[in-house]
This record gives sequence, structure tokens and C-alpha cells, in this order.
Amino acid sequence: MYTIHDHRIIMMLFGPPGAGKGTHGPKVVDKLGTPQLSTGDMLRDAVAKDTEVGKAAKKIMNEGGLVSDDIVMGIIKDRIAEPDCNKGFILDGFPRTVKQAEMLDALLAETDEKVNLVIELQVPDSILEERICGRWIHKASGRSYHVKFNPPKSLAGRTPAAKTMKDDETGEILMQRPDDTAEALVKRLQAYHNETEPILARYKKCAYKVNANQSMDKVSVDLDNILYGLTICVMEKVSLDLDNIFVRKDLNQNVQGPLSSAFMECLGDVASKFCKGIQAIPMLFQKPKSNRQKIDEYRNTMLDKVRKQEEQPEKLVGA
Ligand code: ADP
Ligand code: ADP
Repeated sequence: MYTIHDHRIIMMLFGPPGAGKGTHGPKVVDKLGTPQLSTGDMLRDAVAKDTEVGKAAKKIMNEGGLVSDDIVMGIIKDRIAEPDCNKGFILDGFPRTVKQAEMLDALLAETDEKVNLVIELQVPDSILEERICGRWIHKASGRSYHVKFNPPKSLAGRTPAAKTMKDDETGEILMQRPDDTAEALVKRLQAYHNETEPILARYKKCAYKVNANQSMDKVSVDLDNILYGLTICVMEKVSLDLDNIFVRKDLNQNVQGPLSSAFMECLGDVASKFCKGIQAIPMLFQKPKSNRQKIDEYRNTMLDKVRKQEEQPEKLVGA
């Protein structure tokens, strides 16, 4: 009945330019063990290599416009067929239009798959100019820094410049993106609100909002809690499409604050049995075994809830 092992975890990180997709994506990658596929990074790479795709995309990208749906879809189609995506993948910056979402869903339907988790990083437009204009990136890894909010160690209170802005891990110089200007941002935000935001309606059953207008650490905690919530689905052997209202309620609760260590331990224990697909989940919970009884009690309560929901599903719909 349950087909968890057959599903890939197909997750989408959603949010306007500057919301924090690049900042938080790598942490989600570490936890899920699935790669982050940023169409922006792939296109920038194509531009740098001056490929046919790069030639077609360069000008429109610098102006903050959207590259054609067919070009982007072509890139994604090839990428998600690569072996490192066989447990799943995290989409960043794709889909950007309803047409792209339709094309993606049609492609996934060919293998009986669908998007199972969408996380929307919410930020008011008014704070994005400062974030975007202060952003410096490490090209090779995509790591994102900020002159004020996340300065690299090398800056050490000096004036930001190529000489003072270096990647913490490699020491290589950082760069500013040609489209990270106030003018291009206006256009990018228009495209986001007009063309990208409407996509969310399509995935509302599996979409979760995170307030990204708080410190990076707090955003990380909220994201972690959603990922822990995802493990509940696995633990309860509920289909990963998250259509289930019980799971949704629980996820929403979890977003309120960090989970207890007993709870996490319980999840890790069970998840490791069920979830081949989520490599990293057992790693999330490497705490010493303790409090066995509490964990078992918790697990029974959870299973009880699921059973009740299976008996009377209509009572919970819309609850
Ligand atoms: P995106 O990939 O969504 O366009 P980034 O992750 O690159 O956004 O973040 C944009 C800029 O804002 C970066 O310079 C980053 O360091 C900074 N930033 C990200 N999250 C926060 C936050 N919660 N508070 C302050 N600055 C942030
Ligand atoms: P940000 O991190 O600021 O949200 P990205 O790095 O995702 O921006 O994208 C940079 C640029 O690449 C976009 O402004 C757009 O020109 C192009 N691009 C990226 N992804 C897509 C897409 N899915 N469809 C169309 N254009 C895209």
C-alpha cells in the first residue's frame, strides 16, 4: 500500500530573490542528502562557458528578465535524470512560471512522481534591496555572503572589495552578480510576483511557509522543523505526498519551536528503518539511546492518531 521507497523526495525552495534560498539550500542538502539544483547557477555556468544556452540567456539574465521556459526545462530535464538525483532533488529557482510548473509536473508524471514538499521563504519586498545589493557569492560553490549580515572572515571590518571578500572555506575571491543591482531587482521582483508566485496555488497541499525575515539561525531552525515533520510521514508510513491532514497539522505545530530530543531520537530510530530515500535523516538524530519508554509511548500515540484518522478521515479534512 505504501510506496515510500519508490518515491524520490522532490522538494522546492521557493522565494523572491534574496529570500535565502542559496543561504539555506546547502544545509537542506546536508540533511536530505539530495542535491540542490539551482537553474540560476546552471545558467550562469552556461554563460561563463559561452555555450549556446549561455549565449541565449546572458542579456536577459543581466537585465533581470526570465529565460525562456523551453531552455530552462531542457536543462532541468537532463539534470534530474543524473544518478545523484536518484533519491530526490531540491529545486531552487525553478519553476519560475506556471508553464514551467506544468511542464515539470508532466515530466514527473511520466515516472509516476510528483513534487512532495514546497518550502516558501517569505520576506517583504522592502528588505530585499539591502540583501541583494550587499550580496557576494563564491562562484564555485554558490555560497552566499553579505557585507553586513553574513560577512566572510576575510572582511574583518574593512571596506568590501575583491581583495577583502574571500570565501571562508577556500580563500578564493568572491564576486557580485551583474544582476544584483537595485534596477534589475525591481524587474526580478515584478517577475516573481506576476509569474512565479501564482505557481504556489498548484502545490498548496504540500507547501509550507517559513518567515525568512528573521535571523538566519532562526530560519534554519524553522526549516529543520519542517524536515523533521517530513520524517513523521516516513515514520507513520504515510504517503510522502503530504496530502494527509494529520501530517499537515503536525508539521504546522512543529514549526512553532524546536522538538524535544526524545522525539527526535524516536524519529531517527524509525526513519532509519523506513526511509532509504532520505539518507541523512538517521544522521540528524545521532543522540545516544535513552528514555526508551518515553519514545515508545510517543510512537504509540502517533500511531493511534494515524489509525483514528484512517477510520474517520472526513472529520479531519479542513481541520
Ligand atoms: P536567494 O538565493 O534566495 O536569492 P541568498 O540566500 O543568496 O538569496 O540571500 C541573499 C543575501 O541575503 C545574501 O547576501 C545572504 O547572505 C543574505 N541573507 C540571507 N538570509 C538572510 C537573513 N535571514 N537575514 C539577513 N540576511 C540574509
Ligand atoms: P535569485 O537567486 O536572485 O532568485 P537566480 O540565481 O535563481 O536568482 O536566477 C538568476 C537569473 O537566472 C534570473 O533572474 C533569470 O534571468 C534566470 N533564471 C533562473 N532560473 C530561471 C527559470 N526557472 N526560468 C527563467 N529564468 C530563470
